[in-house]
Amino acid sequence: MHVEILGTAAGGAFPQWNCACRNCSRVRSGAFSGRARTQLQVAISSDRVSWCLLNASPDLRLQIESNSFLHPRGRNRDSPISSVVLTSADLDQCLGLLLLRELQPIEVFVAASIGRILREDNSMFSMLQRRQGQARWHEISPGTAFKLFPGASGQSQIECLPLTVAMRYPSYVTAERAAQLEAGEAVLGLILHAQSGKRLGYFPAVAQINPALLDHLESLDVLLFDGAFWTDDELIKIQNGGQTAFQMGHIPVSSATGSLDLLSKLRCPRKIFVHINNTNPMLDVTGPEYREVRDSGWEIAEDGCHLEL
Ligand SMILES: [Zn+2]
Repeated sequence: MHVEILGTAAGGAFPQWNCACRNCSRVRSGAFSGRARTQLQVAISSDRVSWCLLNASPDLRLQIESNSFLHPRGRNRDSPISSVVLTSADLDQCLGLLLLRELQPIEVFVAASIGRILREDNSMFSMLQRRQGQARWHEISPGTAFKLFPGASGQSQIECLPLTVAMRYPSYVTAERAAQLEAGEAVLGLILHAQSGKRLGYFPAVAQINPALLDHLESLDVLLFDGAFWTDDELIKIQNGGQTAFQMGHIPVSSATGSLDLLSKLRCPRKIFVHINNTNPMLDVTGPEYREVRDSGWEIAEDGCHLEL
């Protein structure tokens, strides 16, 4: 399985349009020690001919143009992107789907509740249904593995197991609407099983870690994990209010209840943080937070990382 990490930032990217935090302002002035980042986007393939997107970021157009393996082939309309798996209805995870309209056929794998939010409550997504055979929607369920749609070879070689990792719908979904949906379908993580036998974990937003999830994570060869915030009150300090990281559905990286500590006993997988918010101090490669992460055996993904499993 070929894994291309096209973008690594949380919603808003890095720098973010309305943010003058220490990180964002230093990136703009050229004084930051570290990389700017587009919003999280991963693409996987078993043959490098046909690609499946894990979520669809608002930066997808730029990410496609920056990576020639995603360019159209031939002389007319075409795309190597054959499918998308959505793990939530968060805007930074699904807005890119609208960029894939243009009458292009695409397979969309999504939990029934997320599909209802997009297709019943947000009429713009009907642009993916302008003609027969454009977007084809496939329902997925937490705990039930499925084969990703076949690539050019006609054989699907990647199996995907979705797991519930949070029960909170995005804030644009009203409480009344959320009550009509399955809580366990709100936010998923994915375990992708390659033909080689190796496993990739894709967990960009995790609200809590329980023993069952730890067992799944221990079975992985590579873990891509939620690195949104360094501390629980990170955004409150910058915005003078708002929600904590936990309230937003993200375990912070640091502290006794953070992911560095909670996942410190994982022995097997190579551990890589993705979905990193622009305010997170671990983005600064000269800072003590970056050093702490690296000394703990973790990596911090940058746009353009490539993995083979
Ligand atoms: Zn910022």
